[in-house]
Amino acid sequence: MSNLQADPEVGGQVTEVHVTTEVLEGAPVALGGPRGMEVVRTLPNKHRRLVGAWCFLDAYGPHDLTTAAGMRVGPHPHIGLQTVSWLVRGEILHRDSLGNRQEIRPGSLNLMTAGRGISHSEETPGTHGPVLQGVQLWVALPAADRDVAPSFDHHDDLPVLTGPGLTATVLMGDLAGATSPARCHTPLVGAELTLAAGADTRLPLRPDFEYALLTLDGEAAVAGTPLKPGPLLYLGAGRSSLSLSAGPESRVLLLGGEPFEEKLVMWWNFVGREHDEIVAAREAWESGGDGRFGTVRGYDGPPIPAPPMPITRLVPRGRVRPVS
Ligand code: MN
Repeated sequence: MSNLQADPEVGGQVTEVHVTTEVLEGAPVALGGPRGMEVVRTLPNKHRRLVGAWCFLDAYGPHDLTTAAGMRVGPHPHIGLQTVSWLVRGEILHRDSLGNRQEIRPGSLNLMTAGRGISHSEETPGTHGPVLQGVQLWVALPAADRDVAPSFDHHDDLPVLTGPGLTATVLMGDLAGATSPARCHTPLVGAELTLAAGADTRLPLRPDFEYALLTLDGEAAVAGTPLKPGPLLYLGAGRSSLSLSAGPESRVLLLGGEPFEEKLVMWWNFVGREHDEIVAAREAWESGGDGRFGTVRGYDGPPIPAPPMPITRLVPRGRVRPVS
């Protein structure tokens, strides 16, 4: 729902802005095939593909690993994006074609910048805790940086903000003056907010950013909207603060950024600008021999083959799908 109305949240003043509240339902997806671990994908969504440069959001778990296999995603390629891995519970082992092997746990960030090409695998390590829960996100690289050399960074020194009933860990970008050391290519923010039981607080926002929130644990009221784990709550731009309250202790993921106006082609694990670029990346992966995506060493399983290209040409699309 989108209305031109008085926003009661702007510093107590009555300011005319486009206030948007959209509940974006997620779609269940089996990661790595029909028997893969189930994730809930809220980005890209039917009518809204991006929040800032955030272009992909899978949430998973809590999964009971005493009865299920956990994550097992074999080597696969990426171009034109960054992958952001963040855990709530458990651990994941990342390997990539640059030779990195890095386990992550809650509180640490794995950030892989694909640029012109990289491949990686992700799996539940042999020695692991009983529960796995987390999110996997992609950030689209802007045209100027989309062909940068691939890189991988692990951060366990992320800034933490505290307020009454609120603790915020800044994964990417900047929140209320606290800046993550993770490399970003567009103005954006990603943060995990922990709300104490009964918390009732406000968080400063940037009016030029659009924002969306996903509850990971508990249940929070976000800008007055109750939000349980599952859907992504899109709030648009134009707000200078956000009300947050919690019943039980709750954990909420905050995503935001300057609206990303470039049109993208997103297909399989690739983010590009046009059809032929995707075809070339797919052929490079399928041929396995041109060195663009390197080799992931140490993963016990085969690489994931690319699906066939669709019969029609891929069309670049904007951040919002027009309502027809
Ligand atoms: Mn990946």
